[in-house]
Formats: sequence, structure tokens, C-alpha cells
Amino acid sequence: MKQLEFGHVNKIYHTGTRETYALKDVSFSVRQGEFTVILGPSGAGKSTILNILGGIDTADGGTVIVSGQDITGLGERELSRYRAEKVGFVFQFYNLIPTLTVSENVALMGELKKGSIPAKEALDRVGLRGHEHKFPDQLSGGEQQRVSIARAIAKNPEILLCDEPTGALDSETGCLVLEQLWRLCREDKKTTLIVTHNAGIAQAADKVIYVKNGEITDIRINPSPLKIS
Ligand code: ADP
Ligand code: ADP
Repeated sequence: MKQLEFGHVNKIYHTGTRETYALKDVSFSVRQGEFTVILGPSGAGKSTILNILGGIDTADGGTVIVSGQDITGLGERELSRYRAEKVGFVFQFYNLIPTLTVSENVALMGELKKGSIPAKEALDRVGLRGHEHKFPDQLSGGEQQRVSIARAIAKNPEILLCDEPTGALDSETGCLVLEQLWRLCREDKKTTLIVTHNAGIAQAADKVIYVKNGEITDIRINPSPLKIS
């Protein structure tokens, strides 16, 4: 089943009198449960794609269909509901709330939704059992990113969108975080899209989308993705 569909999507940013064509006629689709990696140089449009999919930005043309729902026509209220119910986001800089404990950070999102996973269980999934009562600044960068992954999966979203989740981590820690995302995707058959500069993880992806200057330059489907043990 196709879960995501981008059809001829355009995005133009206006800054003063300048127009930036961030996306030009971008089309692709992703099936339910696929692990997709988006690769491309800085400024290519990768974040714009994730932000539109996640309902934190809107397209200027074309169609964006998620689980059969066209999200391009949604108003602000419906879009906010869409984000809360269907999308899990993982950002480069974790975006944890420093005054809340690990467990409270994770529960914050999950509580908004039916079918959500208890914070403790979500933390267990990312190997952070026993860290529930710590505060974010008592954890390493890699652990903080795992908390943000737990927060994203706690609401049991239909799609997991990760924008350079390893951008602030050293390469070894970054690899562990990517492997964890891969494992969660496989275990839960959770549709996952990751923007990264780490070409290594692309070998374990079902699909790799190459973006440059706002356009898709290549889509590679991996018939036998590498299995991470
Ligand atoms: P990356 O995704 O490679 O980490 P960023 O998304 O941070 O890079 O930024 C990519 C490019 O987009 C940069 O040239 C940056 O200046 C530009 N950019 C990002 N956000 C904005 C914004 N709000 N206004 C204008 N330019 C932006
Ligand atoms: P990437 O994630 O591949 O680095 P982005 O999607 O962040 O690229 O940006 C694509 C293009 O859109 C870049 O030229 C960037 O400068 C521009 N851009 C991104 N966000 C904004 C914004 N809020 N205002 C103006 N320009 C932006």
C-alpha cells in the first residue's frame, strides 16, 4: 500500500523581493513500512520535503497524500490535528524541554493521542530504561536524541520523519542512532523517512531519494537492503 505520495509538488520561499524555488515538480511515493533515506547537498530541499510531509510547512502546488488523505487543502486547525495524530518528528537538536524529566518529555506528546505508548515502554524501546527521572542535561547527546526518538514513537504515529537526526552527534554515536531508527522501522513496520548525510545507512534503506537544487535527481529502490544485526 502506498502510504505517502508527493505529486508535482512546488515550494517557493519569498524573502523580500527574492524568490527561492525550494522544490520544483517533486514527485515520489513511499509504501507502508518502508525505510527511506533522502540524500543531497545542503540547501537541496530535503528539510522542505519533510516539513511539508509533516504538516509544519505547506506546498505551493501539487498534491501531498498521506494514508489516503490529501493534506494540501487542510486549514491550520486540521493541519495541527494531522501533526498530532499521524506524524512523529525527530530533529537534529532534539528539542527536549530542559525543565521536564526524560519521562515527562516523552509523555508530553503521547498523551495527546489515543493508542499512544506509555513513556516507560517507549524509553525501553530505545534502551533508556532507568533514565526516566533524569533531566535532559544529565544525558549525553546520543541519549538525548534517543529520548526524542522515544517521544516521537510514543504517540504511535503513522509516519516517522527524521531531519538529520545525527547532525549534532559524533559519527560513532550517529551510527548507533541510525541503526536504532532502522530497527524500530523494521520491528513496527513504521514508515520512516530520514534526511541524512550518512550515505552508509542508505545501504539498509528500501529506497534512496537523491535531491539537488529542489529537484529529485534519482530514486533508487534497493531490492535487498542490508540487514543490520
Ligand atoms: P541542512 O539541512 O543542510 O542542515 P539547513 O536546513 O540548516 O541546512 O539550511 C540549508 C540552507 O537553507 C542554508 O543555506 C540556510 O541558510 C537556508 N535556510 C534555512 N532556513 C532558512 C530560513 N528560515 N530563511 C532563509 N534561509 C534559510
Ligand atoms: P536542505 O534541507 O536540503 O538543506 P532546505 O529544504 O532547508 O534544504 O532548503 C531548500 C532551499 O529553500 C534553500 O535554498 C533554502 O535556503 C531555502 N529555504 C528554506 N527554508 C526557507 C525559509 N523559511 N525562507 C526562505 N528560504 C528558505
